[in-house]
Amino acid sequence: IGSLYLVATPIGNLEDMTYRAVNTLRECDIIAAEDTRQTRKLLSHFEISPSMLFSYHEHNKAASGPELIRYIIEGKNLALVSDAGLPAISDPGADLVALAIAQGIPVIPIPGANAALSALIASGLPTTTFTFAGFLPRERKDIRVVLAPLRAAQGTLLFYESPHRVIKTLAHLQENFGNRRIVLARELTKRYEEFLRGTIEECSAWLAEHPPIGEYVIVLEGESREEAEEASSAWWRELTIEQHVA
Ligand code: SAM
Repeated sequence: IGSLYLVATPIGNLEDMTYRAVNTLRECDIIAAEDTRQTRKLLSHFEISPSMLFSYHEHNKAASGPELIRYIIEGKNLALVSDAGLPAISDPGADLVALAIAQGIPVIPIPGANAALSALIASGLPTTTFTFAGFLPRERKDIRVVLAPLRAAQGTLLFYESPHRVIKTLAHLQENFGNRRIVLARELTKRYEEFLRGTIEECSAWLAEHPPIGEYVIVLEGESREEAEEASSAWWRELTIEQHVA
């Protein structure tokens, strides 16, 4: 039986490719990629010539997943890559991992670049607890369903967004969370990397004047101090120590 390797690729800066990622891609029998054309460019940059390059994406994963698993069971080592960053994070991969585990196939992560965590660590917002929410759904009613339970979340919230939708998404965030502080991390690791820090209103006004270009991570502060105080006022009077004695 072979193994399934989940290989991180750069999110914009080729220097973020790790030695281990290059070696794994060189040594694997099969590379499965979200977009084989995109991956071919990456492979040729690092002088990797794959013996088999397979396509594995959102629309063919139902058929392609079990086929890839059969190869691994036959003894082939398979590396899965997405277009950027970590496979299975707002990218295909989770289903293949689940199939592999069900078959007793070892699943080996090869870590590297990731947009959400890179934005978080540089945001200046708390990093102890956070929720990654990925892309919002398109429909307003679905957006509410996703955002409502996050209103009371204590930690920082992370969203992915494209330049076409970022202004609209900020409006949804304001509607659901109020005018909280956010950090917009744009074009991480790339030439025009940028961090915009301010309230949702301030950042939206900026974007109205400077039309969004490039890829965005939206980092949103968790429940704000006033809200936190309001929420806890029902039980917070003074320090109480609750002991349960069995
Ligand atoms: N698998 C990737 C990862 O590990 O970060 C995420 C892939 S997801 C399809 C693409 C989204 O990630 C973009 O729309 C953007 O929100 C975010 N993203 C990817 N690269 C980025 C970058 N260089 N700067 C800012 N955001 C980025």
